[in-house]
Amino acid sequence: MNYETLLKQHQLKVTPQRVGILEMMDGAGHITIENLFEQIKKRFTSISLATLYKNINSMLDTSLITEVKAPRYKTHYEITKESHAHFVCTSCGQHKDIAFDMNTLCKNLVDEITYEVATTSVILSGLCPKCKILKKML
Ligand SMILES: [Zn+2]
Ligand SMILES: [Zn+2]
Repeated sequence: MNYETLLKQHQLKVTPQRVGILEMMDGAGHITIENLFEQIKKRFTSISLATLYKNINSMLDTSLITEVKAPRYKTHYEITKESHAHFVCTSCGQHKDIAFDMNTLCKNLVDEITYEVATTSVILSGLCPKCKILKKML
């Protein structure tokens, strides 16, 4: 993934911090602002949480990144990709992408002439394979 191109495509100025944020987000898949801040501080020692929030917000405004909000979990952020569902592990908190055809779901659920769907969010929760095995061993 070329982060500079991605930023330019979203009409955002390319800064080393923004490239760093995207690199870390891409590496993690889904990341909370707290974890992102911990990691980014190692590279840009003078960055403040306020600056990080500002960058995150401008990337959210241009839909370069997406918020993932699972009930009872802190908001995670990810680089926007094709619409998908999420599986959230209630034991370790891991967020995993699940391939899911959101368009068909919308078509089946709402009358698209009357409604205009802007965002969709499908969250499945339970135990991830690792936690499921651990639970059996206890
Ligand atoms: Zn788990
Ligand atoms: Zn995702």
